[in-house]
Amino acid sequence: MEFDLVIIGGGPGGYTGAIRAAQLGMKVAVIEKDKTLGGTCLNVGCIPSKALLDSSEHYADALHGLDAHGVKVGKVELDLKTMMARKEKIVGDLTGGIVYLFKKNKRKNFANR
Ligand SMILES: Cc1cc2nc3c(=O)[nH]c(=O)nc-3n(C[C@H](O)[C@H](O)[C@H](O)COP(=O)(O)OP(=O)(O)OC[C@H]3O[C@@H](n4cnc5c(N)ncnc54)[C@H](O)[C@@H]3O)c2cc1C
Repeated sequence: MEFDLVIIGGGPGGYTGAIRAAQLGMKVAVIEKDKTLGGTCLNVGCIPSKALLDSSEHYADALHGLDAHGVKVGKVELDLKTMMARKEKIVGDLTGGIVYLFKKNKRKNFANR
């Protein structure tokens, strides 16, 4: 196979560059060593950290923040398994979204599946 542009790494730098190059008419391939696209940001950085931060904030509010609003709750418990599953789903949805964008822009993805 021949390409006009081969990008190593499917993180935010790689996938945005690849999509833009394809939109400009280039035949592009992205080589990614991990199983999913999205790089540090989508897989282990920005997105999962903010998903967990969001959950943690709800937990902290339920523990300490709702009284001031006159909202009474019973015993508050942390279900870490559910919290982590929610985070994984968000990561999966967003990394899958990049696959969709690649297909939409007819990009070849060599992620390590
Ligand atoms: C915990 C955490 C939280 C963060 N939060 C934020 C935030 O809120 N906002 C923000 O703007 N930034 C945040 N960042 C930073 C953000 O993740 C990075 O700026 C961004 O991911 C950089 O993108 P990149 O494409 O340059 O590199 P990366 O995302 O690291 O992507 C590089 C990709 O290249 C692949 N790769 C590397 N070598 C090879 C090889 N030889 N062959 C094939 N593939 C290869 C890697 O597997 C990876 O997928 C956070 C980072 C961390 C760790």
